Order: sequence, then structure tokens, then C-alpha cells
Amino acid sequence: MLQGKTALITGSTSGIGLGIAKSLAKQGANIILNGFGDTAGPQAEIAALGVKVAYHGADMSKSNEIEAMMKFAADTFGRVDILVNNAGIQHVAKIEDFPVERWDAIIAINLTSAFHATRLALPAMKAANWGRIINVASVHGLVGSAEKSAYVAAKHGIVGLTKVTALETAPTGVTCNAICPGWVLTPLVQKQVDAKAAAAGLTNEEAKKLLLGEKEPSMQFTTPEELGELAVFFCSAASNNVRGVAWNMDGGWTAQ
Ligand code: NAD
Repeated sequence: MLQGKTALITGSTSGIGLGIAKSLAKQGANIILNGFGDTAGPQAEIAALGVKVAYHGADMSKSNEIEAMMKFAADTFGRVDILVNNAGIQHVAKIEDFPVERWDAIIAINLTSAFHATRLALPAMKAANWGRIINVASVHGLVGSAEKSAYVAAKHGIVGLTKVTALETAPTGVTCNAICPGWVLTPLVQKQVDAKAAAAGLTNEEAKKLLLGEKEPSMQFTTPEELGELAVFFCSAASNNVRGVAWNMDGGWTAQ
């Protein structure tokens, strides 16, 4: 379905970003990966799916590096047809204890990076009259949780950015939508499970149940594969007129 298209997924060396990259690759899209840590493993996983893969190590908190990444994408594959703004970090602390540097980093990586990548991707998408921008927000783009001020502010912000991007592209073949996952068991969430286990003297399994029980009636983690299939749907022709939605996949979290 996506043969000949190029997808750039930020923060795709791990977790949800890698899951979405694999789902798009299975549909034939060439992939540009981004993110830290092991890069050879994820590149090999994508290449094994029979598509072209490239990697750029831009730090998404730096606008000049995002510009370099978008130029690299255009030089390597012609243009970016599908942009998935996914890179994100978390920090948990009460507002009065929240390190200012963590606030700045979360807003830069979880929100401002999406503005930069979007503004740089849009001209070529509009010229081609086809494009997909998918913002990985969170249930925290729709509701709040204590001790996550920067994350909740950034995620509400990216849901707003999604709506404005959708409105500005509405007369074109470019669409923009957001995905709002509940708990997904990635390294970002495992750190929160570990903190719960340490604080309450629980096993890993007990801490996972406690975390799910606080928020998700389904008592199940959403998987990167399930989120990847939602991204595929947003890229399909059936989604041509799906614009500006914030689609939760959250085990009932926000239905309460
Ligand atoms: P993760 O920690 O597994 O992956 C984060 C990715 O972002 C990694 O590839 C990492 O290298 C990259 N990254 C971090 N800082 C970066 C930077 N400065 N520049 C470039 N890349 C950077 O986390 P995840 O859970 O897969 O999170 C992915 C996205 O999904 C985030 O936006 C997160 O807020 C969102 N999300 C996660 C959950 C969850 O439960 N895990 C729920 C809702 C939303």
C-alpha cells in the first residue's frame, strides 16, 4: 500500500516509534529512523522487511539538527511523504519540585520538535498534494495526571498543533492526526514501573498491575504493533478525510 513512499519516524530506535516504523515498512514504505541508543539493530530489523532504510541521529531538542535531518531525508529519498512525530521523554515530579531543565527538555522534545519537523515537511507534501503527519500524543493530551506537568502540557499542546495542521492542510491531500496511547510497556514506562516497585517493595509484575489498575479498565498494555496498525490506517486511502482527530488507544482510560 505504501510502496514508493518515504516515512520519517522521530524517536524510532525503540518502543512505539520502532513499532510504527515496522508497520509502515511492512506496507512497503522506505524508512528513516531517528533516536539514540542502538541504531544498527533497528536498521537491520527494518531492512529485513525488504525496504530501504536510513538513519539520522538528530537531537530533537535542537532545531538546527532537525533541519539537518529533514535535508538528509530529502537528499536520500527525494522527500518525506509520511512524518511521524514520536520522540518523547518523561519526568515525574510535583510542580514545585520539577527541575526547570527537565521542563524545558520535555517541551522541546515532545512538542517543539513536532512544530519544526512539520514546518519543514509541509512544503514538499503540499507540492505533491499527498502527505501524512501523525503526531504521537498520549491520553495525557486529553486528560491530566498529577506529577506530569510538563508532559501533560506538551501532549495537550501537540493535540492542538494537530488540529491547526489539519485545518491548514484541509483543502489538500495532506492530513494530520494524533494517536493517544494509554500505557504501552516501553522503556519510558518500564522506568515508572521500576519506580513503583522500588517505592512500595513490589515485584515487577505487581507494580505493572498497580500501574494498569490506576488508569486502565482493560488491565492490558497497548502494544507498539497495535499503534503501528493505527498509523497504517491513517496512511490509507480510507483516511483521506480523517483530519485533526486525537484517537485514543487506551484500554478505556479516557472513557471513565
Ligand atoms: P521510548 O523511550 O521507548 O522511545 C523514545 C524514543 O525517543 C527513543 O528512540 C529515544 O532514543 C528517542 N529520543 C529521546 N530523546 C530524544 C531526542 N532528544 N532526540 C531524538 N530522539 C530522542 O518511549 P516510547 O514509550 O516508545 O515513547 C514514544 C512516544 O510515545 C513518546 O512521545 C511518548 O510520550 C509517547 N507515549 C508513550 C506511552 C507509553 O505508555 N509508553 C503512552 C503514551 C504516549
